[in-house]
Amino acid sequence: MAGAAVDVLATGGVIARVGPGIAAAPGAEVVDGQHGILLPGFVDAHMHLDKTFWGLPWRAHEAGPSVLDRIDNERRLRRELRLSPDIQAEGLARQAVSRGTLHIRSHVDVDTEIGLRNFEGVMAARRRLKDIVSIQVVAFPQSGVVTRPGTAELLDRAVQGGAELIGGIDPAGIDRDPKGQLDVVFGIAGRHGAGVDIHLHDPGELGALQIRMIAERTRALGLAGKVSVSHAFCLGMVDEAELGHLIDLLVDSGISIMTNAPGDRPMPPLRRLRAAGVTVFSGSDGVRDAWTPFGTADMLERAMLLAYRSGFRTDDLLHGALDTVTRGGAAVLGLEGYGLDLGDRADFVILPGETLGELIAMRPPRSWVISAGRVVARDGRLERG
Ligand SMILES: [Zn+2]
Repeated sequence: MAGAAVDVLATGGVIARVGPGIAAAPGAEVVDGQHGILLPGFVDAHMHLDKTFWGLPWRAHEAGPSVLDRIDNERRLRRELRLSPDIQAEGLARQAVSRGTLHIRSHVDVDTEIGLRNFEGVMAARRRLKDIVSIQVVAFPQSGVVTRPGTAELLDRAVQGGAELIGGIDPAGIDRDPKGQLDVVFGIAGRHGAGVDIHLHDPGELGALQIRMIAERTRALGLAGKVSVSHAFCLGMVDEAELGHLIDLLVDSGISIMTNAPGDRPMPPLRRLRAAGVTVFSGSDGVRDAWTPFGTADMLERAMLLAYRSGFRTDDLLHGALDTVTRGGAAVLGLEGYGLDLGDRADFVILPGETLGELIAMRPPRSWVISAGRVVARDGRLERG
């Protein structure tokens, strides 16, 4: 499906003209796309910028297999390493930009041991990078809410301090009190008009029960379109009848689903959810941190993983995977002017290739990354700032 060759004129950070043979305006910077493919910037809508080891020497993974093992291991490492969250966050966000990502949603740890230290670090990094990449922040209670008294107050302060969303984690599996955790999370969201994005690893019926509880609260507070469930392994585990019911509930409540195509966990049925009208989005999740040795913050690679794990082969299905890391994420982040139409933000990534399916299969280097009409990376390297 090769498109026709066009020129794009960006003025004032937005797309002013699209068509063949546009003459360069005097003084304009001219970027030669060499008949590659022009896409809107990628959206990495589930990162953990504050906790990455990106830029540090290789560290062998040493956590046990369960979520609790990994939380404990991370807390120990955090005390030992005392990394600077703003420097780590900035380094990883820059890496993401070099791979064509121009919009990020990052969960940021908030707990009674570190307080708002990581949150303030990521907020500082986001201020420094605001002309290159947009960063939305989720105040994330990685270690639990109900079981760690004092966390709720910290989450509330983070939202008052600029976090757009409030996070949660396995209300049953981690806190053993789904009602307690969800009441705190949705209570803060309701008070401040914040969005909600909950990590839900809990399996099968236990996970399904919590999706029903999240949907109930989303409706009660009128938060349709502002609530996401991340991972939702349970959607890949329940039987057909239950899955159909949950999908109807997600559509009716306006809840979006994030999957990063996890290696050895069940994943939500991407094709089925999209066909039913559920907004599905994706993200790197942890990149090179205490949770995983993997990741390069590359959303084209993520699209390949989504397709690979879902058994997608046809171009049509590959396009769906690409849509998940572009328009799906943009919809969830509520980005205005995202796309390639006149008046949209001039946020582009240009890649060598002939078709979108080929891009996912080959994952070529990013020739150009352009943010609001300004070149920010070329051939995989950041240009400036
Ligand atoms: Zn996560």
